[in-house]
Amino acid sequence: MKPQDLPEDLLLAFERQRSATASQRDVPWAVRARRLQRLQTLLHSHEAEIVQAIHADFGGRPATETELAEIWPSLEETKTALRHGQGWMKPRRAPVGKWFLPATAQVLPQPLGVVGVIVPWNYPLYLAIGPMAAALAAGNRVMVKMSELTPVFSALFQRLCEQAFSADEVCIVNGGPEVAAAFSALPFDHLLFTGSTPVGRKVMAAAAAHLTPVTLELGGKSPAVITPGYPLAHAVQRILAGKLINAGQTCIAPDYVLLPRAQMPAFVEAARAQARRSHPTGLADADYCSVIHPRHQARLVQALEEATARGTPAEVLFEGPARDDARHRLAPVLLLNPPADTEVMREEIFGPLLPLVPYDDLNEALAFINARPHPLALYWFDHDRARTDAALRQLPAGGVTVNDTLLHIAQHSLPFGGVGASGMGHYHGRWGFDTFSKLKPVFRQSRFNGMALFMPPYRPLMRRLLALMKRY
Ligand code: NAD
Repeated sequence: MKPQDLPEDLLLAFERQRSATASQRDVPWAVRARRLQRLQTLLHSHEAEIVQAIHADFGGRPATETELAEIWPSLEETKTALRHGQGWMKPRRAPVGKWFLPATAQVLPQPLGVVGVIVPWNYPLYLAIGPMAAALAAGNRVMVKMSELTPVFSALFQRLCEQAFSADEVCIVNGGPEVAAAFSALPFDHLLFTGSTPVGRKVMAAAAAHLTPVTLELGGKSPAVITPGYPLAHAVQRILAGKLINAGQTCIAPDYVLLPRAQMPAFVEAARAQARRSHPTGLADADYCSVIHPRHQARLVQALEEATARGTPAEVLFEGPARDDARHRLAPVLLLNPPADTEVMREEIFGPLLPLVPYDDLNEALAFINARPHPLALYWFDHDRARTDAALRQLPAGGVTVNDTLLHIAQHSLPFGGVGASGMGHYHGRWGFDTFSKLKPVFRQSRFNGMALFMPPYRPLMRRLLALMKRY
């Protein structure tokens, strides 16, 4: 999209932030801290409204899940930035090569300018606040495009940000795919996109026009591997916990399970018992989330029906009805060894369907993962440390949790991001601060130095020095 074709209000909003950036290149910590505090106050003061809005958008999202997986991690991200941001923005000392002494070197983090953030619907608060906190801590101004599938929350968030920030600091944009496409065509200084791999491709192509650097937080099929001998009940409990939160609509939810063939029946039994314990009233359970939209319900039902029509045994884990199309709610279903060319084995599931893929030899499981696009997350259940370490060296993944699911995302010390088809770049904690900063290298020459020796005409002394330099 050419600049003249962009909607005028979007261009104006961008220009406003760009000229504010130009008028304040050096953004002191006090300014950044005030912005982060306003973000924090927004979260504290409007928690109930936020929970309610997201509940309305999903047509039923457990309040506890919103608090646990959205409000709390958003507060953690802002708290971490407030606690450490001032330290992160300090110049970082770097060594100089011995031949350049006594000069000094440092890395100077500098704000990039105007950062764009594109948000999906599945965790609409956290996936907006996480990048915003990092970008604001790094001294940038931020424009955020919310998802059209969460209209109630997106409107609320826009109103709350308009109250808390001036439009040249934070600007929330709402609208459908056309607005999103126009948004990604703005000449941002950095663009972070969270969403699906196909749309990620379009975003990267749009950003290329301005050489806008991108961080792509995409999806994919994240495997869980149960190794021979691992206590099955524990693996089932943790895999279901990771799969059932938000009804499987989590980018790092376990997408399918690789397990020893002989354990398939025991997995089914344990999963059924576990699902009935955690959600005793099945689809009616207040602690179970709806599928976001009838369109996604239809997509999931179609994928399920395709697998069963191809002869795949399906085990519904809840008691009572398996689906409620009117309220777009779908019970968790295990699919036993679906053919590799069914949709559930080709595409990211992003819902409560869980294929079980049996293996006879653990190497088969490694080969299965390695033959597919790099996943966003990998879950490895194993008490054998050496075998685990060997597997982690062999398997590509955006992030790993061993003997549990999802929890690597909650560690600020760990970079969060995909690899290959599951994305590029990282954020969270200091990793996010660095993503949204130019880490500017600075070399400071000392008053006394031998550089004059290295200028033409090149003399014999310089040739002898160069010979020494090559040797040591
Ligand atoms: P999506 O790709 O359909 O939409 C994401 C955002 O992109 C929305 O705001 C949408 O308006 C916008 N968009 C649509 N068309 C666009 C275009 N042409 N140019 C620019 N933006 C455009 O994804 P979704 O359905 O909202 O979210 C589900 C996907 O997101 C899943 O694949 C999931 O794995 C992934 N996801 C990844 C992470 C992560 O951190 N890696 C987190 C959550 C979700």
